[in-house]
Amino acid sequence: MTFAVETLDTDALRTLQSERLVDTLGRLRRADAPYWRAKLADVPDVTSVDEVAGLPFTVKSEFRETFPFGMLAVPLHDVVRVHASSGTSGKPTIVAYTSGDVDVFAEVNARALACAGGGRDDIVHVAYGYGLFTGGLGLHYGVERLGAVAVPASGGNVAFQVGLLADLGATGLACTPSFALLLAERAETAGVRGTIPLRWGIHGAEPWSEGLRAKIEAAWGGGYDACDIYGLSEIIGPGVAAECRENKGGMHVMEDHFLPEVVDPATGEPVPDGTAGELVLTTLTKWAQPVLRYRTGDITRFLPGECPCGRTTRRIGRLEGRADDMLIIRGINVYPREIETVLMEDPDLGGQFAIVIDRRGTLPEVEARVELADEAAAVRRDTIARRLEARLMETVRLRITVHVGDPGTVPRTEMGKAKRVFEQTDDRDPLGSR
Ligand SMILES: [Zn+2]
Repeated sequence: MTFAVETLDTDALRTLQSERLVDTLGRLRRADAPYWRAKLADVPDVTSVDEVAGLPFTVKSEFRETFPFGMLAVPLHDVVRVHASSGTSGKPTIVAYTSGDVDVFAEVNARALACAGGGRDDIVHVAYGYGLFTGGLGLHYGVERLGAVAVPASGGNVAFQVGLLADLGATGLACTPSFALLLAERAETAGVRGTIPLRWGIHGAEPWSEGLRAKIEAAWGGGYDACDIYGLSEIIGPGVAAECRENKGGMHVMEDHFLPEVVDPATGEPVPDGTAGELVLTTLTKWAQPVLRYRTGDITRFLPGECPCGRTTRRIGRLEGRADDMLIIRGINVYPREIETVLMEDPDLGGQFAIVIDRRGTLPEVEARVELADEAAAVRRDTIARRLEARLMETVRLRITVHVGDPGTVPRTEMGKAKRVFEQTDDRDPLGSR
């Protein structure tokens, strides 16, 4: 099931986006708010989305600096709801919605659910947290808008949730990917997995991999489609982009509501289609708290080609990391997760690796230290290294020397998040010579 606006031809969509961008800018110029007056003081008018690069960026700290309502573009009496995302330090980020915004929020989530295979005959178990977080209520109203049955399970109490899935006969599941897997495992243990008729799931709010997708789909039995959904509270919440079940591996952006750009995180300049960069989003239909060119910090790329599902909206690839993690090596932007993906796909390697940036020469050199999964593969060590180097050159477009060690030779992180990237300088040799 697709929505008419998702199959517009490119020109009609561009026209609609341009009208909405011009309209948004007009409203912001009329807004009675110091934030918007300052933001737009020296900004020329735009007539189409082709001129969006003339608008200023917005960054996360602006939400903190204007906490709680400084970014409102409407009077507070027009606001009907707020959500918040937890800040890493201090105050949360507050986002506000008019009744029209709440309507759009429901619509984009209904469309995301339909992308995953949902329809009005479904019973959808929503196990995202309900509350200030946008996930629970966002998907909940999406399910209702779709005309399906929403079961507001929220988080926690896994045994109870497994019983509920079985008793109500849920056919759709909305939750994080890790929780989807946990529910499947508990359902299996409880002996009810086979009685739960789930056909599809929509799983976002945390990074996941193709490997985890395969695990979730297998755990719920053949025919289950596990689809990704992307969003962030600063823009609206979930429903900014969603994966269709016909073409997994990328997400359709709800382009009639959110204008996407991909830029070089270092320069802010647009990168060519197909190249990785930072996702930048402009809201086209929000009233309470529109956002111009928000730097999401998420690394992705536009995917080429038509989609077999029939939607004509552009697709972005799976998130490839955070802009903060970006390394610039010999003028090339490199994201450690791009390297990790190549290394983790190789069947001969174990899960540990380290990336060493050697800055002792005139130009920095990059080395990937990996280890064999099995000592028996040691006779093929050179073949494996050359294969990985070729693959890295192809995907990262950078010469990376690969050193394949024996099992257990890559240093382990004892505490907390694994450290993967090390800088080697004249006076610092973090991993020691190999
Ligand atoms: Zn599609």
